[in-house]
Amino acid sequence: MSLKFNGIGASAGIGIGTVVVVKEPSLEYKRVKISNPESEVARLQEGLDKTISQTSDMAADMKKRVGEKEAEILEGHMLLLMDPAMTGEMEEEISKEHKCAEQAVEEICEKYATLFASLDDPMFQQRATDVNDIKTRLLKNLLGVEDIDLGLLPEGTILVAEDLTPSMTAGINPANVEGILTEIGGKTSHSAILARALEIPAVLSIEGIASRLANGQKVVLDGSTGAVVADPDEAVVATYEEKKKVFLEEKAALQLFVGKPTETADGHKVELCANIGKPKDAEQVVECDGEGIGLFRTEFLFMDRPAIPTEQEQFEAYKKVAETLGDKPVIIRTLDVGGDKEIPYLQLPKEENPFLGYRAVRLCLNRVDDIYRPQLRALLRASAYGDIKIMVPMVTCVDELRQVKTILNDIMYEFDKKEIPYDKDIQVGIMIETPASALMADVFAKEADFFSIGTNDLTGYTMCADRGNPDVAYLYSAYNPAVIRAIERVIKAGKAGGAMVGMCGEAAADPLLTPLLLAFGMDEFSVSATSILRTRKTISAWTMDEAKKVAKHALTLATEAEVKKYLKSVAK
Ligand code: PEP
Ligand code: MG
Repeated sequence: MSLKFNGIGASAGIGIGTVVVVKEPSLEYKRVKISNPESEVARLQEGLDKTISQTSDMAADMKKRVGEKEAEILEGHMLLLMDPAMTGEMEEEISKEHKCAEQAVEEICEKYATLFASLDDPMFQQRATDVNDIKTRLLKNLLGVEDIDLGLLPEGTILVAEDLTPSMTAGINPANVEGILTEIGGKTSHSAILARALEIPAVLSIEGIASRLANGQKVVLDGSTGAVVADPDEAVVATYEEKKKVFLEEKAALQLFVGKPTETADGHKVELCANIGKPKDAEQVVECDGEGIGLFRTEFLFMDRPAIPTEQEQFEAYKKVAETLGDKPVIIRTLDVGGDKEIPYLQLPKEENPFLGYRAVRLCLNRVDDIYRPQLRALLRASAYGDIKIMVPMVTCVDELRQVKTILNDIMYEFDKKEIPYDKDIQVGIMIETPASALMADVFAKEADFFSIGTNDLTGYTMCADRGNPDVAYLYSAYNPAVIRAIERVIKAGKAGGAMVGMCGEAAADPLLTPLLLAFGMDEFSVSATSILRTRKTISAWTMDEAKKVAKHALTLATEAEVKKYLKSVAK
């Protein structure tokens, strides 16, 4: 009998192999009162030094084998290990309470981990995992327990563990590991990031998996869907073998599109950019061959911190992205908070209908001094270092765009006087994500340099259906004829008025919609970095004539289901 499990698909790919359960060795010790605190503090320091040096070696190895970004996780561990606040508290437990070094390490690490875990923010929760990882390594060094060497796992291993810490992952030889299954972690946890970087299929967050599977069991897994089957029968294995073949073929086929222009089969060129949330993400866009940034969601710079980032901090972040992209365009969206994006320190009022309330540009235009002007100043200063364009979110009336431009002009006047460098021809565009801006697209096109259609919100506002409400999920679909018509009109009106028109909502990466967007004349697609090559491939499969025929027919259809069915039937 086969057993089925489901978890979070965290690293795409199909794994077929044999289970090796990795259990951390026991780290038990006696809680004795020590008589010589000085020598115990010295023992703690020895343990810390050894752990720092091991971590440094692991980081160097990780940098060589995987990448700089991944090595930074371990470099972060080193900073924690050298943090005088945390190590100082450990020393205090030894000298004042006469606890042994192991107990001091365990209690203080647990205190910090509990504190981080209690914060809502996923970044701090990740920090809790990091502290636990450090605790384990420190205890091992103090107790003289050897690490399990994951570099020696046999070929075809499906690695099963409660959690996969960065230090464990660092030792893995990806040639021998077919897949990873863990009880803890999500799509953005470090184990997921590392599994993706090593291109090992991984399913995380499967309850009790480390005790439900045993060494030697056969397992198949799908790292995209999160499906896992243990003791699969021959038919299931055959299905997964076929899936694996298709996955690897597709992956190889996508590589052929690296370095190629984004164009249709008959040579119609469009721009293919990517969406980012943090300055660091820009590196991945370059790695994935993006032609620019179509949306930098700056709200992430405002999150996970106790106060508004200063103009200087923002300037550095925007400059970094501009420099990473070189001469490629970077569209930076001004702060879009409110609605579902909360920032506690801004102390925004509770609203009956936050999605129809005080958010994005509405809030910024009301808080020019503390929020908007510093952000616009930072953006203008950074524009001297690359091809930055400014994008205003959630616009509903032309007055809003005019007000933003007035503030920008004031800043430019001051910069000219003070000889602060900036791009004097900087483009200012808007997101089209409200029915109001879609209906006024012809007017906006005369005053905005570019549009970027935000289908995530435009779909919700057009269909009056909340993005996250499962009861109305059947309405929240960009295949609705109303949404498709809105997109068509925005693109046509924008282009007729001389504005460049792009799309940064999720619909831009939907292969079923590609022929429509091409036929309507869209200039730029902005998708997640990992969707760049697939989108380039889909675009290359269409000729403009074919796309126009599909669009013409799609626009005659009356329902969401009809549109979807039709687009599926002609998909390439
Ligand atoms: C959108 O609404 O489509 C969009 C890209 O903005 P966000 O998802 O950040 O609201
Ligand atoms: Mg939006």
